[in-house]
Amino acid sequence: MKKRIALLGIYHETNTFSQQLTTLAEFRSGFWLEEGAITEEYRGAHHEISGIIEVMESSDEYELVSVFYAYATPSGMVTADALEGILSRLWELYDKNGPYDGILVVPHGAGVSENHPDMDGYWLQQLRARAGDQVPIIGTLDPHANVSPLMADSTNGLFPYQTNPHIDQARVGREAARMMIAILSEGRKFTQTLVQLPLAISIEQQYTSESPCLDLLQLAENVRAQHRLYSVSLLLGFPYADVAELGSAFILISETGHTPSSGSREAAGELLGYARRHLHSFNGKKLHIRDWIPLFPGMEKPVLLLDMGDNVGGGSSAQSTHLLEELDRAGLSRTFICIYDPAAVERLGNASGVPAELTVGENGYVIVPESYRLIEGKFKELTPKHGGFVNYDMGASAIVRTVNGQTIMLTSLRTVPFSLQQLLAYDLQPESFDFIVAKGVNAPIAAYKDVCRHLCKVDTPGDTSADMTRFTFHHRRSPLFPFEEPPAEAFEA
Ligand SMILES: [Zn+2]
Repeated sequence: MKKRIALLGIYHETNTFSQQLTTLAEFRSGFWLEEGAITEEYRGAHHEISGIIEVMESSDEYELVSVFYAYATPSGMVTADALEGILSRLWELYDKNGPYDGILVVPHGAGVSENHPDMDGYWLQQLRARAGDQVPIIGTLDPHANVSPLMADSTNGLFPYQTNPHIDQARVGREAARMMIAILSEGRKFTQTLVQLPLAISIEQQYTSESPCLDLLQLAENVRAQHRLYSVSLLLGFPYADVAELGSAFILISETGHTPSSGSREAAGELLGYARRHLHSFNGKKLHIRDWIPLFPGMEKPVLLLDMGDNVGGGSSAQSTHLLEELDRAGLSRTFICIYDPAAVERLGNASGVPAELTVGENGYVIVPESYRLIEGKFKELTPKHGGFVNYDMGASAIVRTVNGQTIMLTSLRTVPFSLQQLLAYDLQPESFDFIVAKGVNAPIAAYKDVCRHLCKVDTPGDTSADMTRFTFHHRRSPLFPFEEPPAEAFEA
């Protein structure tokens, strides 16, 4: 008899400062995959589910049972109705397809719902109660998870991606699946420990190809090897959630009979000590667009402008025109920018001829179109890029050229800027622009670094402002840098 492994997930990164609630409709128009539809979407792709499928399907001993996966684009609080609707379908399919010898889960790890602030802890605990203590539950995470003790206690092992932009998703899927095999086929035993740092790393400093996060990853690997741990993973944390577990952390997994008994505690002490010594390197520079503009003449074009305050992948509106307005005001043209504005797309769809003016974005910025075309808004990404998505859908969309030489893509679904195909599929050549605005911080770099030599992280207003201290938190843990300077004892294991 083959061992039966369930595959399931609820995936949402919730920005609790966004006013845009996440309803069931957002999950329905995101990914709502039941049973065989999961493997159909992700087999052979670069997603964590792809890695899980690859390992599980390559073994004769295992049968991967696809249950349910729901995903919505990052946005505001998940409504109580949405979570209830998702869970009732999840448990229905879970019961129908069981029993299971093990369960592989795919949460994001920063989900917040109206009545369960620790949404992932809540559903993982329910899953544990259904499965019982003897069935291993192992999962992947986005490193922008704010991991709670309940999430760690409800699972046997969690593997966050270790790159930002996230281009190692398939790898962590394989790791999670291999740990399942280590338990079920090899009888190995593991213990998971969550180490919360008294630190929330600024979004601006979360690029893992550079210091300080690159050093942190190197440290994690050294500590893992030195203390004979099975796994040591960094969690960057998601800054825009007013929850108790806000902040950065490490997950340590020790192995019985291999890791010395004091291994996890000593490793935790070293990681905390390092965070204490380098605390201030985790804050960002936060340069305004007016600080950047004088530097543009010396930069090779196109320049990538990362709109940190309207970071769609962090749950912002995707409707800010702040950078477009500033560039227009400075007389800088040949810009590409994408703005979510279904009403503007509809006006163009109904227009006869080119309208004299068009109002776009959340603050009603008026542009003067020179020409426009309507597009279907769908494209595919087949190479490993942040998010691991294959099929993108922007909804009915339009590409507008303004009289002052800007190119504005208007979409009717909020769209993350993770793929160059967003331009190429519609015959827009990235090299033909002087400025490309990407509404994100680190994630778009994987898509744009080959065409843009200069990456400018711009401190802009919005629900994902780079400066966490601009938001009012009521529930976060404390002391937590950069809100406070934690005392020495906060860094003790
Ligand atoms: Zn992430």
